[in-house]
Amino acid sequence: RAKADGRGVHRFFEPQMAATIHQRRTLEADLRQALRAGEFQIYYQPIIDIVTNEIVASEALLRWFHPMRGSVPPSDFIPLAEDTGLIVPIGEWVLREACREAASWPTPIGVSINLSPAQFRSRALTQAVVSALASSGLVAHRLELEITETVLLAENHANLSVLHRLRGLGVRISLDDFGTGYSSLSYLRSFPFDKIKIDRSFVKELPENHECGAIVRAVAGLGQCLGVATVAEGVETLDQLARLRQEGCTQMQGFLFSRPTPAAELRRMLAGPEIAAAPAA
Ligand code: C2E
Ligand code: MG
Ligand code: MG
Ligand code: MG
Repeated sequence: RAKADGRGVHRFFEPQMAATIHQRRTLEADLRQALRAGEFQIYYQPIIDIVTNEIVASEALLRWFHPMRGSVPPSDFIPLAEDTGLIVPIGEWVLREACREAASWPTPIGVSINLSPAQFRSRALTQAVVSALASSGLVAHRLELEITETVLLAENHANLSVLHRLRGLGVRISLDDFGTGYSSLSYLRSFPFDKIKIDRSFVKELPENHECGAIVRAVAGLGQCLGVATVAEGVETLDQLARLRQEGCTQMQGFLFSRPTPAAELRRMLAGPEIAAAPAA
């Protein structure tokens, strides 16, 4: 912390801070160009029925291939895109592109798309969804929108009516990263979600961690009681998969079955014989 009266401290920190601000500005300038320059691609990660091992949906995950920086991970540019409002045009592009791609898949599985809270603030979200569905010809129930608890925070009360309007279109709504927010359970009361995605942090420590096992079991049970699908995120091992099946999760997603892959690769997976990570339960 550089205090106004601590001159020495101030001088010591200034060059570093300036460098950080400069890096952020150049990244922001590059991000502004990226859409026009065609540097974005969408990768797709299959979501699997945990009992039959069939692909039931695929999550669209944004990738930025910068000519000089190389591949920039979403964790580096999504927060910046949110702060600058660039997530609005970028998010609309993802919606259009992923709906168009999904409409061409050989099997009518779902496509799930991540939405940022900032996209709700733009007011144009419902219209963007309507036009993405119309221009692609994708039937609404194949589109799943993933939101996090932040969208439903008290100060965002208007977002709830947007969610209801989206649901009114026939689109499905998933609660992403479940368990990482401050009052997860209360959000399940505020909106009838179609799917709960159990955050990877709980899956990661299975089967060793007793608490994580108990939490996964409770959420899967909650899903069963509410008639809501539960997806385990970040499944990497057969031991984790066995435990998730035992606890009653209905779907899984993770490197064990497939990493996020380019659109063409996913289409091959959908057209070809089923690749089984494990024998069907
Ligand atoms: P998310 O929505 O929770 O997506 C799941 C993340 O977990 C993805 O990271 C995925 O690659 C990763 N993952 C999946 N299976 C495994 C596994 O078995 N092990 C491990 N270690 N990781 C796994 P990714 O692609 O880096 O995306 C990170 C986050 O960036 C996403 O988290 C999402 O919040 C955000 N994001 C990605 N694409 C978009 C987008 O188009 N729009 C918005 N608003 N956010 C996006
Ligand atoms: Mg997601
Ligand atoms: Mg997630
Ligand atoms: Mg996550």
